[in-house]
Amino acid sequence: MGHEMFEYDARVGDAVFDYCRERLSLDPVPLDFGSLRAVPESALANLISDQGRDPREVLELFRDFLAPAVVSIDSPGFLAFIPNAPTKNSLLFDMVVACSGLNGTSWLESSGVVVAENQALAFLSDSAGLPPGSGGAFVAGGSIGNLSALTVARDVARVKHPELDPHEIRFAISEDAHSSVGKALHVLDVQSLNVATDDHRFTRAALEVALRDDPAAHNVVGVVATAGTTNAGIVDDLEGLGAYARERDLWFHVDGAYGGAGVLSTSHRHLFAGLRHADSFIVDPHKWLFAPLDCCALLYRNPTVARKVLTQQASYLDVLHAESDDSYEWNPSDFGIHLSRRARGLPFWFSLVTNGAAAYTSAVQVAIDLAQLTERLIDESDHVEMVRPSSLSVVLFRRRGWSAERYHEWSQELLAKQIAFVTPTKWEGETVARLAFLHPNTTEAMVRQILDSMTD
Ligand SMILES: *Cc1c(COP(=O)(O)O)cnc(C)c1O
Repeated sequence: MGHEMFEYDARVGDAVFDYCRERLSLDPVPLDFGSLRAVPESALANLISDQGRDPREVLELFRDFLAPAVVSIDSPGFLAFIPNAPTKNSLLFDMVVACSGLNGTSWLESSGVVVAENQALAFLSDSAGLPPGSGGAFVAGGSIGNLSALTVARDVARVKHPELDPHEIRFAISEDAHSSVGKALHVLDVQSLNVATDDHRFTRAALEVALRDDPAAHNVVGVVATAGTTNAGIVDDLEGLGAYARERDLWFHVDGAYGGAGVLSTSHRHLFAGLRHADSFIVDPHKWLFAPLDCCALLYRNPTVARKVLTQQASYLDVLHAESDDSYEWNPSDFGIHLSRRARGLPFWFSLVTNGAAAYTSAVQVAIDLAQLTERLIDESDHVEMVRPSSLSVVLFRRRGWSAERYHEWSQELLAKQIAFVTPTKWEGETVARLAFLHPNTTEAMVRQILDSMTD
């Protein structure tokens, strides 16, 4: 008999599996209430005790008090920030990963994980037009993906340009780059050249102007483009920026955390052709590739360079790296700022393999089509108007005459009535409404209900 804590109690197992079965079969998944539904203090009082509690009672407590205080990110009514809409197969396989004791760190421990994850990474890399031999790892999210890629970019530049003061190294970014890019540059103690853009799209022309006017242009060692800005869905001039970076021997990083999935769309894939120039590229399967949190695909054009920068050196780890370069077998730990790692690419892999690539193409396209339909509905209505044309699956629009406070009240009302979760954003200083489509089961009827809710 082992330790009691490690015994399997089938009744507890049944209760948990029943709960999961119920969640998986909800159609649609309800929004629930987030912070609008407070958790009573009594629910958690003295819960941690010496003797422990009946797991079935605690599961009930979770169901009754904690789960409703979370806005379900996989509800088709979740249209705020960037939603997450995991496929059923990805959720099911996440349970397999959870129950399988997989450590996705190294080839030595889990080559079976690595080959499958790399198959999924190769699919993304091919879709992006990166050359064969590109590769990387699944990391926790776009923020750590950007930080990891820019760490490699910085170190490569330091080697290439020993004449530059390491802290004066700069990356050209646009004002619409995601906040995690600025944070990464801060952590790396390097600087940014903030390029002003017309209508928020970072172009080669804007970059050339900024560099021409800058007395310290020689410090710029890389360009960071966004393939789908988070606020507005704008895809930067990847072709122009990428070609410029190639010509000038600059590192070209593309942040496609949200919009990179658009490369699978039929209508908009042409916007992503310039991805083929990328030295590094990220896309979050936990956003528009329908995988559960937390999962970012981080790809390098030259993985060997990345691994030389990022491999953690420690004597107890030497056994992982004993091979020569030729026989290198691929340790996901070597490609990001992490070591121990959940096999977080497997739910995406399982879903991709079982549903097929065509299902991904059509599901990505549904969100773009709904954004365009919404734009037409807004154009036909008097009380609302577009702030700018929809881009990818994001719609920015205003309710004529509304104050910032009114948008915030409206947002809370929609959630309280369980119609939708929509949060306002700012566009050029003005508070406006924003819909981020992603879930293929979001309907035109829901959009009409949201627009109608703005009439008074
Ligand atoms: C969401 C997002 C990020 C950050 O990704 P996380 O997975 O939330 O860390 C970075 N860049 C863009 C463009 C994003 O949309």
